[in-house]
Amino acid sequence: MDLVRLTISELQKGFRAGTFHPVDVLRALELRIQEVEPSVQAFLSRDFEAALRRAEAADVALPLGGIPVGIKDVINVQGDPCGCASRILESYTAPYDATAIARLRAAGAIPFGRLNMDEFAMGSSTENSAFQTTRNPWDTSRIPGGSSGGSAAAVAACEVPAALGSDTGGSIRQPASLCGCVGLKPSYGRVSRYGLVAFASSLDQIGPVARSTRDCALLLNAIAGRDPMDSTSLDLPAEDFTSELDRDLKGVRLGIPKEYFVDGVDNRVKSTIEAAIRQCAEHGAELVEISLPHTEYAVSVYYIIATAEASANLARFDGVRYGRRSDKPRDLTDLYVRTREEGFGSEVKRRIILGTYVLSSGYYDAYYLRAQKVRTLIRQDFVQAFEKVDVVVCPTSPEVAFPIGERTSDPLKMYLADIFTIAANLAGICGISVPGGFIDEGGRKLPVGLQFLGKPLAESRLLGVADAYERVSGWSKQIAPV
Ligand code: GLN
Repeated sequence: MDLVRLTISELQKGFRAGTFHPVDVLRALELRIQEVEPSVQAFLSRDFEAALRRAEAADVALPLGGIPVGIKDVINVQGDPCGCASRILESYTAPYDATAIARLRAAGAIPFGRLNMDEFAMGSSTENSAFQTTRNPWDTSRIPGGSSGGSAAAVAACEVPAALGSDTGGSIRQPASLCGCVGLKPSYGRVSRYGLVAFASSLDQIGPVARSTRDCALLLNAIAGRDPMDSTSLDLPAEDFTSELDRDLKGVRLGIPKEYFVDGVDNRVKSTIEAAIRQCAEHGAELVEISLPHTEYAVSVYYIIATAEASANLARFDGVRYGRRSDKPRDLTDLYVRTREEGFGSEVKRRIILGTYVLSSGYYDAYYLRAQKVRTLIRQDFVQAFEKVDVVVCPTSPEVAFPIGERTSDPLKMYLADIFTIAANLAGICGISVPGGFIDEGGRKLPVGLQFLGKPLAESRLLGVADAYERVSGWSKQIAPV
């Protein structure tokens, strides 16, 4: 049996039946990592020995007992480096566990490895990492998506059964889509952000990347819930997110937003998604055309709000409190300026400058305040749509994984990679990307992600629909050729 290919639920069964032990799985994963990492480069670092000790002591009766979970380099794991793939935090070691990590541990899981990302989660291809370029396991000449590209690539390459990522504008769903995984962005407030290095605090959420919807539900069960350390985490009754799995699509009202099937979407992606939606209908889903009229403003609004919040959040990296400090500063100003000049990459600088500009007096009303108003309109579009439908269905990304280097010189083109994922963050709703088919390109199969969007806090329903589609389509069983 190939242990590295198993899902969390399959691993749990094997552990509990005594067929294999968490130590066997961890050793198999480590061998797999050694075999494929030279071509995938998803991990920034990992501590195999420490993970092994935890695997030896694993309690497989716990909900995630003995399950290794890869962690995006933006989430604090006590004692591990937490560098956000940035030079400015190169020497930084996390002094505490993020709440999501503490909860994973309480559920028996083993945080394993630091996964590559775009610097401070800014990007859509993982090419903005200060350290290495992660490659797509379906075609290593292509990007894995971003910013959680390391998380998606590691899961797709069977280096870990699952990983945590963070999603501010699509950073879980878009790489999951491009790497043929399942990626869930929970509703805003569902998962504590304590210990997640902040990019844009009103948009950020931690969520799982895995090889099945069920596994995402199991991870969400572990990490969700109110946390006194994050005042934006919501106090809700405990919920079992697997409760609506194993149902069918009969009677599910699926909303198809006409604004998401426009020019600019790769025709092969469009026909793949249309075929996936037809399959949902054949299995009993009711298709309803809806309109999300403010969709065209989502990218612009996002790049005002996200950069504004980022400019404030990243002010703390000043050479005094965290990580890197420039050598022999002349004075305090020189210390700040040179630390930031040397420590941040160009995309991060671009966003700090943009964010500072939109917040500056004289421009605040014209940009930031107006963007907040349009954000409300985008949210209302969804409120209205969800009066008529249970779940919205659309592409996750307008295209498949593109070649490494193709977009790095054109930030605007890169920003458009998130055109279908951003609105969910602005509206605070939940969304999931599941494999929706493949297209052939130059003799390679490249995954296409199908995105389902759900009402705020309706993750159980969302997961139920995604799981039903996953079972009728069978796409998530495909394994990358790397
Ligand atoms: N790609 C988007 C950006 O560059 C989204 C990033 C994210 O979700 N963290 O901002």
